[in-house]
Amino acid sequence: MSANTIAWNDPLSVLPGIGPAREAEIAGRGVLTVGDFLRVFPREYILPGEKRPVADVRPGEKAVLDVRLRSIRLLRKGWRRSVVEGEVGDETGEVRCLWFQVPYLARTLRPGSRMIVQGALSGSPPAFLHPRFEVVRDGEAADFERILPRYAPVPRMPPRLLRKAIRHALDHLRVPADPLPADLRRRHDLPGLADALRAVHRPETAEEAGLARRRFVFEELYTLQRVFAKARRERRRRTKRPAGAKKGDAALGRFLRALPFALTADQEGVIDELREDLRSGRPMERLIIGDVGSGKTVVAAAAMAHAVGAGGQAALLVPTEVLARQHHQTLNERFSPLGVAVHLLTGDLPAAERRGVLEAAAGGGGALFVGTHALLEEGVRFRKLTLAVVDEQHRFGVRQRSVLPAKGEKTHFLLLSATPIPRSLALTLYGDLDLSFIRTLPPGRKPVATRRLSGKERKEAYAALRGRLSAGEQGFVLFPLVEDSEKSDRRAAVTAARKLAEGYFRDFTVGLLHGRMPVAERIDTVDRVRSGEIDLLVSTTVVEVGVDLPRATVMVVEHADRFGLSQLHQIRGRVGRSRLPSFCFLLTDGPVTDQAEERLAVLEREHDGFRIAEADLRLRGPGDLLGERQHGPSGMGIADLLADTDLLELARREAFAFEGDDPPLPAPLRSG
Ligand code: ADP
Ligand code: MG
Repeated sequence: MSANTIAWNDPLSVLPGIGPAREAEIAGRGVLTVGDFLRVFPREYILPGEKRPVADVRPGEKAVLDVRLRSIRLLRKGWRRSVVEGEVGDETGEVRCLWFQVPYLARTLRPGSRMIVQGALSGSPPAFLHPRFEVVRDGEAADFERILPRYAPVPRMPPRLLRKAIRHALDHLRVPADPLPADLRRRHDLPGLADALRAVHRPETAEEAGLARRRFVFEELYTLQRVFAKARRERRRRTKRPAGAKKGDAALGRFLRALPFALTADQEGVIDELREDLRSGRPMERLIIGDVGSGKTVVAAAAMAHAVGAGGQAALLVPTEVLARQHHQTLNERFSPLGVAVHLLTGDLPAAERRGVLEAAAGGGGALFVGTHALLEEGVRFRKLTLAVVDEQHRFGVRQRSVLPAKGEKTHFLLLSATPIPRSLALTLYGDLDLSFIRTLPPGRKPVATRRLSGKERKEAYAALRGRLSAGEQGFVLFPLVEDSEKSDRRAAVTAARKLAEGYFRDFTVGLLHGRMPVAERIDTVDRVRSGEIDLLVSTTVVEVGVDLPRATVMVVEHADRFGLSQLHQIRGRVGRSRLPSFCFLLTDGPVTDQAEERLAVLEREHDGFRIAEADLRLRGPGDLLGERQHGPSGMGIADLLADTDLLELARREAFAFEGDDPPLPAPLRSG
């Protein structure tokens, strides 16, 4: 090995084959230094054992060939239609390769060159169609006898040059101090940085590459969890004197005894956690993750009972007026027998009422407040806000939702999730919070029987809907509303509502709900559904948010392929909220993409929100799942939140157990 002349933070141009043009190209991907470069990991490896003799490969099979190019020619000219035909072979036989829209290959590939060809044999006569390939130069051949790493392509940089640059970097690098403490590595069998870098890029065996990957995945997860651990440590330093804990406990007890139903074990467990938080003398910062309909509201209300009982004020922030009204009503039912006032604050409140609410906030003690964004306005001041709750938390931006607790001093902060997400994803996105999970639904709920129907079958859905309405139950017909066709979507819902009201459902009362209706009208419509006056509600997606209508048993979703998986689960969650059997029909018109087909199939077969969220994660990736893009398109660098869950738990344990100074954090990792 030659002298260690390259530093981790040197620019890429110190590497052979990387001039200003390529340096700029690579920098465009955020890879600026040699260290960054070495932390771009191979997408895959080709193992020597995967190479197959040409004669063994049957049509329909995938294969890696180690061959020589026998001949090459341009079969058809013109860029778009161009086809290049190459004959490749080894000692066992020959086979045809066809490449499309790359006419220059006929000029640049030289007969006699050794090539690695990777693709599938298909067609008749059989050929490899547009296979991936690499030319092996003399002197480099040894690489192909061992494990061959493959990286995401860099434009105008052949893989061979990429590998050469990486090898050069590995051979000349002064490896910096390992960001993972030595004793930690020892305890968990994680290779050191130098060994792991070498093993990832130039592995001797597949096991070695696997161990090195494990180390980097751990490092990535550990780094993130250390940030969370630090945030939490700092928060925990902000202790406060628990005031009125005894009174709070007593009030909580009264609240629980007055409930009209028995809590589920999960609900009880979470309420215990909340009680601990409220008594601890540290400001709570907790996220409750529960399935749709799992009963998060009552759990939050229990915490509010404690806070108010202890002499403070509690406020609940929700994303829509409709939901604010609903929560106001339920909280009133629970709290007015206990002599606790519940105030509603929304943007459309008449001035006099608004003044009354503001006075209650600024003056009295022991009251509850429910509201929309209107709660966040500067004019809203609390005398003693001790608990802030945010429902459907991901509907609010991080900064926005933190406005509410800031209206008190060392306020307890409780967040309720909108959708269940797998624990691994929660630990990654919300790892600085304490997490509580409600996994089970209240007893007696039957899974919503779900069927996906298309074309003529859709009649069945409407017939079933009619049947349930005749039995005195309620139903929804839901239309998608997407931004770029918002107008025509809304028109579709309005037209459909009218058609249904005047036609097939003329002997029922049909209501319409969409986001552009005046708030008062929207609230009125939901009230009429709740009172049973409206039998059938035609709606755009506004209905998905938290609305709780126990007598609704049928959900018909039009253009179901246009919704996301978790969204459909939310929507389906609007029915099946009582002991009555419920139904969901997912309707589609015309052709449906494979992905959409898969989503609908998942919903037919799965009812557990956490498992649906996992399927969603698998289909879309974590960034998409939450509509939160700040973690990059794949959410993580190289960690796989579904496969690496045990490493994640390990990393979290270690990070939270770590005591000491925080060393500088390494650059993020990349896959590619
Ligand atoms: P989500 O978790 O989706 O916000 P909600 O809090 O709206 O769910 O609760 C859904 C419905 O279940 C409500 O009508 C609520 O009163 C009811 N509920 C909650 N907990 C229980 C329970 N333990 N037993 C019976 N019904 C319950
Ligand atoms: Mg809810």
